[in-house]
Amino acid sequence: MNVEQLSAFRRELHRNPEPAFVEIGTAARIEQAIEGLPVSVLTGADAQHLAPVVNYPSASTLDEWTDRAVASGVPPKRAEYFRRNGTALVVDIAGNRPGPRWGLRVDIDALPMRESTDPTHFPVPNGFASTNGAMHACGHDANTTMGVGLLHRLSDHDFPGSLRVLFQPAEEGVRGAQTMLDAGVADDIDRMLAVHVAGDTPVGAVVGSFTGGMATRKLKVDFTGKASHAAGTPEAGRNALLAAAMAALAIMAIPRFGSVDTRLNVGTLVAGDGVNIVPSTATMTCEARATVDDTVDELVDRVRSIVEGSALAQGVSVSLALMGQSATVCPDDELVDLIIAAAKAQDAVDAVERTRSLAGSDDANLLIRHVQQRGGWGAYLMVGAASPGPHHSATFDVDERAIPLGIDILETLIRAAR
Ligand SMILES: [Zn+2]
Ligand SMILES: [Zn+2]
Repeated sequence: MNVEQLSAFRRELHRNPEPAFVEIGTAARIEQAIEGLPVSVLTGADAQHLAPVVNYPSASTLDEWTDRAVASGVPPKRAEYFRRNGTALVVDIAGNRPGPRWGLRVDIDALPMRESTDPTHFPVPNGFASTNGAMHACGHDANTTMGVGLLHRLSDHDFPGSLRVLFQPAEEGVRGAQTMLDAGVADDIDRMLAVHVAGDTPVGAVVGSFTGGMATRKLKVDFTGKASHAAGTPEAGRNALLAAAMAALAIMAIPRFGSVDTRLNVGTLVAGDGVNIVPSTATMTCEARATVDDTVDELVDRVRSIVEGSALAQGVSVSLALMGQSATVCPDDELVDLIIAAAKAQDAVDAVERTRSLAGSDDANLLIRHVQQRGGWGAYLMVGAASPGPHHSATFDVDERAIPLGIDILETLIRAAR
């Protein structure tokens, strides 16, 4: 794929963004873009396990996005396939001599937010702004294009080892990586990479790896009580709203940790049936984060005690489910050295930062940690993409020169491996 073809593919994805787990047209477009390459492709249950996913999109939501994908030109049969079987793709390409088994995670989902319609926002005058209410406001259109472009580059097989590209759904909300881990697709990888564009970094600047960051758990808590007349028989009711409200306050009152940075947030609380009814249901979502992996589990234990205690106090029942999760990232020095050497070999790279601490959470870290726990190496490469607006804002946009540059670095890295 030449530079124009890479931009055209990225713009096609940008025009048709799809949020977590409904990347139906995106998956079909990836499949189309690698058609004819000497690769093998895993999809469906071979690429991800969807059964444990909490709050998976409803049938009507899936139908809606399938219709949109078809209306945007995706073959109906392929749209239907990804709608039924999930949107992850795992693509393998083999080198022609022995060497490491590389893994590369690229995320494919967009955000449920509207894109700017301002005529100075580059995609608007250039005719590829989103029209469907979602937006590629984190650059996953560019990340995905790097994955596709790299497979094209390496289709001459002239490299040691092999490469597996993991096209991962649902990075936003940190829900997708675990579904792919559950399918075992990272079990045999020796060197696990993730690549992401950095909007706040100039083109030509590269970060060898993210480091640190926060482990996170996203939780959904359902309280179930009993409705009754709020005036006639209030004592017969069991108040789910009160249990949830007590829990919300107590969760925010979990103490700080002396040696670890932590965060807690109760993000949503939806409860009750009507103004004169003792509320019988309440659903709360909350998240915990910590700079140490074990601490986030301790926070979840405390949240569990609180919701169970609040439920007991109000005589309601409660269930707690894990919606999403991620870990911290600790890149391997040897691999960061190789990435930096590959970056410095590019004429277009003029600034190399060894590592940068990750401000948020990304579930590629689960894949990296999985490979590291099995004796492999991992790192998370960032490629400067000079966006006019911050990540997750309506004016986010990628300088497309970042795409071939990211591919060049990855290609150099993999071809030079021993
Ligand atoms: Zn994001
Ligand atoms: Zn992102």
